[in-house]
Amino acid sequence: MRFRTLAIDFDSTLVEAESLEMVCAKALAERSDADEIMREVQHITNLGMDGTIPFDESLSRRVALVAPKREHVEEVAKELRERITKSFLTNLDFLKANVEIAIVSHGFVELIEPAAQRVGIPKERIYAHTFKYDESRTVIGAEESSPVTGAHGKTRALEVSGLPRPLVMVGDGYTDAETKLLGAADVFIAFVEHVRREKATAHADVVAASFDDVRTYLEKGAA
Ligand SMILES: [Mg+2]
Repeated sequence: MRFRTLAIDFDSTLVEAESLEMVCAKALAERSDADEIMREVQHITNLGMDGTIPFDESLSRRVALVAPKREHVEEVAKELRERITKSFLTNLDFLKANVEIAIVSHGFVELIEPAAQRVGIPKERIYAHTFKYDESRTVIGAEESSPVTGAHGKTRALEVSGLPRPLVMVGDGYTDAETKLLGAADVFIAFVEHVRREKATAHADVVAASFDDVRTYLEKGAA
């Protein structure tokens, strides 16, 4: 099979970090109870990633705990440009020459765009949430109109994207695995270079230790 699209998760896949946790850490930096709140934030992140609670709930609980500001978002977006997964960068020329690349994420366009720009992925190929702010520039949630909003958001976004098939989804979370389980992706590659989640690897066609393995799979598929 010759694959035509590589859809890539952002947090802990295209970049080595969890972007919303970075925003939370920055927003909490001057608080004495920062460690305690960060542990709770990470716990809620994991519940969302495992599919135990819906994304909307996981986000609203985290932003209510932390109340990040627009400047925290802007600073982290710049930092993420420097946190792109090394094995993605070393395989970028191959990937660009062989597949259409899209980012499908339960992260936020504002955080993803500078990193995407660095590797030449256009904004139209970013399927993610957008922050909603109040009048004091504090994050209060996500805009409901984004392509990944609601149940099975990543799957829905891929279904309506018009991205050419066959399509390979790469990611570390259950919502990434779900795109294949629900038929919006033809292959799911569990990406474990940064974090290994059993709820993702259990449903994987392939487990990739880095983008070298993703490349090898695509090359085999293209043969
Ligand atoms: Mg991820």
